[in-house]
Order: sequence, then structure tokens, then C-alpha cells
Amino acid sequence: MSNAIDVEDTVDAPHSGMIPVFNPSTEEQIAEVPDSDQAAVDAAVARARDTFESGAWRKLPAARRAEVLFRAADIIRARSDELAELESRNNGMTAMGAQQIIKVANEMLIYYAGWVGKIHGESAPLVSDGLLGHYETFHTYTQLEPVGVVGLIIPWNGPFFVAMLKVAPALAAGCSVVLKPAEETPLTALKLEEIFREAGVPDGVVNVLTGYGETTGAALTAHPDVDKIAFTGSTEVGRLIVKAAAGNLKRLTLELGGKSPLIMFDDANLDKAIMGAGMGLLAGSGQNCSCTSRIYVQRGIYDQVVDGLVAFAQMLPMGGNDDPNSVLGPLISEKQRTRVAGIVADGVAGGAQVVTGGQPMDRRGYFYEATIITDTTPDMRLIREEIFGPVGCIIPFDDEDEAIAAANDTEYGLAGAIWTENLSRAHRVVNELRGGQIWVNSALAADPSMPICGHKQSGWGGERGKKGLEAYFNVKSVYIGL
Ligand code: ADP
Repeated sequence: MSNAIDVEDTVDAPHSGMIPVFNPSTEEQIAEVPDSDQAAVDAAVARARDTFESGAWRKLPAARRAEVLFRAADIIRARSDELAELESRNNGMTAMGAQQIIKVANEMLIYYAGWVGKIHGESAPLVSDGLLGHYETFHTYTQLEPVGVVGLIIPWNGPFFVAMLKVAPALAAGCSVVLKPAEETPLTALKLEEIFREAGVPDGVVNVLTGYGETTGAALTAHPDVDKIAFTGSTEVGRLIVKAAAGNLKRLTLELGGKSPLIMFDDANLDKAIMGAGMGLLAGSGQNCSCTSRIYVQRGIYDQVVDGLVAFAQMLPMGGNDDPNSVLGPLISEKQRTRVAGIVADGVAGGAQVVTGGQPMDRRGYFYEATIITDTTPDMRLIREEIFGPVGCIIPFDDEDEAIAAANDTEYGLAGAIWTENLSRAHRVVNELRGGQIWVNSALAADPSMPICGHKQSGWGGERGKKGLEAYFNVKSVYIGL
């Protein structure tokens, strides 16, 4: 093991083995973390339950809780270089991408810290004169109460950010959490426990538990003392979580897969549109659930856009996490690279044309070339499955209706993009696309204030914005007879 990372403070937890952690840029093992077993899950949930019931966090005055969360944001800002370095070493993302991830994660925390004390119940005049009871009239109000002990299960892409997307609103609401990072990328999530402790969150409110999904994740999801699961990951695992949560009817927030379309009309600003389509496809090497990997292009500009995207893909510098010029990093693992190659091979066998890329890189690290494909058919895995790699398909269309129908021909509904200079057309197509987040003349924009709520099989509920905070509360209605 080289460049070993200290995880000593986690190895005392009960566990049945260790999980090796790799740097995807070099294939070297950089750490090992506990494979938490049922006893470890029980212990973490019990700690979270005790602190929740004690009220040590949820009953703190709002100003004190906000203060603690803002302090955590200060600590993260002060440690951002170290966190970014760790994130890029563990995930393979570029140094620039990792800096950005830590920054936007902190903005998420600051956003939710600002909500503490500003979201509450309401009182309204009675509507009915037929209320049952021994009283003539009532004073009524609602109050919002933290949902309880929440299990947070996150994937390997953007690990620190996705963790914060859940931890920040959960803590702002007053919940206690057990966070299970992906087995591939546990290292920055482990830092969250110590950061929140240092900021003043009482011990036991934030618990980070490393382990595999089928064991540790499944045990957390099925645990009778967990009130809610917030999950980001594949639609397939989302279905398993729905089943496992049925035991005690846990509340669920699910942010699942996507196969997002981009529609480029012939009146688009082509320079910007090609660049936007390239970034929408290749940012994070395509390992982004909102990546726009089905690129529908109006026939008159088709050849020009294919050439432009090929040039864009070939121009992007590829490199490991320690290469400051790198824009395209490796995939997360050999398993993922094999899966990507398999989907491309299936398409090629069916007649698809690889215009550029289409091969693993001949170098250390799990690199796969930026790949542009044409001549697909709608039934191909290339068009139907979330790839999570730098692979995009360009498909020609003739008119708006055809583009909308093709874009919506998917079981997913996470995101979508439209490139046009025609304002009326932009609004018409926004109205027709079935997705939780639509970009017009932009790529991958995201803001803490804007919720993302997957449509169709892309999820249940939403994250970010006020909606993302409400998901961590139960509503209680109170009637006081006067
Ligand atoms: P990805 O394809 O992005 O890795 P997954 O859905 O496979 O997404 O994994 C996302 C997270 O879900 C990871 O933390 C993983 O360990 C966890 N996970 C996988 N299987 C299960 C399961 N059966 N129950 C709970 N969590 C799981």
C-alpha cells in the first residue's frame, strides 16, 4: 500500500473485515476501511437513536444549531485543499473538479445552515363549522418535527458533495444520521464525522459507516429503528431499497438513474451548443447521473455537430488526479470500465459507428477514451441504459415533435437540455420534456436553491432547495379546544 491514508479512528468499530480502497488514476491501493457488519450497523443506529431521543441536537435553539453548521462550513473551507486532494485521489476526478466539488458541497451546507429556524409550521383560520369535539371552536397549528434517525446511502460519483446534499438538510432539520458512503469512495465521507464533531455537533449525531452495499447498506435499509433512507444510486438498487424499507414503512428519498437527452435545434448558437453538449456529456468522464448522453441534433446541422463534438472529445486533455492539466479523469474501477466497453461493443455489433474513442486507454488507471457514436437504434443499450462513462450518441431528427418523442422515449426522467435561440420553442419543449431538471442553453447547471426531483423511474421526492429540507420533517397538526 502506498500513500496510506489514516483511518485509524474508524477501525475500532465492530466489523468483519477490511475493504481495500484504490486510486483509480494509478490502480494503487491507498487505504483500507472497515467492512461494517450487522453489529456495527446496530451500534451506529443505536448511537443515532440515543442522541436523537436525548434532544442533544434537535432541541438546541435554532441560533446555536445554525452557528455549529456555519462553523463546520468554516472548517471545510480551511481544509478544502486537503479534502479536494483526498477526493481526487480516491475518486479519480481531476484536481480542478475536486476543488469544485468541495466548494459546492460547502455552499450546500451554508445554504441549509441559513434555513435553520426559518422553516416552521403555520396557523390558519378554521374553514369548517362542523368540527367534532366538545368545544365551540379551536386554535389550530402545524409544527414540523425532524423525522428521526436517517440512513444516508451515497454513490461513488461526487462523494463529498452527494454526502453533503443529504447530511446538511438532515442536520438542519435536527435529525441524527448514519451515512454509508460507496465502498469505492469512503475517504472524504469519513472526514465529515470529525469535521462536524469539531464544529460542535454532539457525538453520535453524525455516524459514518463504511461497508458494501449488499451487506452494510442492506442492513441499514432494513433496520427497524431507522425512520428514513435518503439514497442516491442506481434505479436497480433503488428498487431493492423500496422493498427493504417496507418492513417499518420508512420514508424514502430516492435520487436514481438517468439517461438524459439533449436536443439541439438548427437555430442554436452552435459554438456554445457544441461546447455545452461536450461538457454535458464528458464532465466527470460521464460519471454523472444528469449527464446528457443522448444528443438529438436537427438534420441540417447534424454533420457539423458530429464534427464539432468529435473535435471537442479529442481535444480534452486526459490525465490522472495529480495532473493539473487533466480535464478527463479515469473511470472509478476496472469493473465500471468493463461495463462501459460492453455497452459500446453491443452497440457496434448492432451496427452503431464509433466516430472517435471507443477503447480503454493503454496506460495505468481505469481510463476510457472520450467516445462519440452515431448510427444507433432506439433499442440499443447505448440509448436505453445509463452508461456512467464518457460515451455519447448523436441522433438526427427532422422536427420538434420527433425530437420530443425520441427524448421522452426512456424509463428515466432526471434531466434534459435544449439548445435553441427561439424563446417560444424553448418554452414549448420545456413543457413537453419529462424530466426533473431542464437546461436551456446551458449544461449541468445546479444551485442549492433549485430542487431536483426525478420524474418516472429517476426517483421519489427531491433534494436541494426548501423541498430538500422539508423531506427531513414530519408534519404534526395540533387542535386546541377553546
Ligand atoms: P452506482 O452504480 O452509482 O455504484 P449503486 O446503486 O450500485 O450505484 O450504489 C450506490 C450506493 O448504494 C453505494 O453506497 C452502494 O454500496 C449502495 N448499495 C448497493 N446495493 C445496496 C443494497 N442492496 N442496499 C442498500 N444499499 C446498497
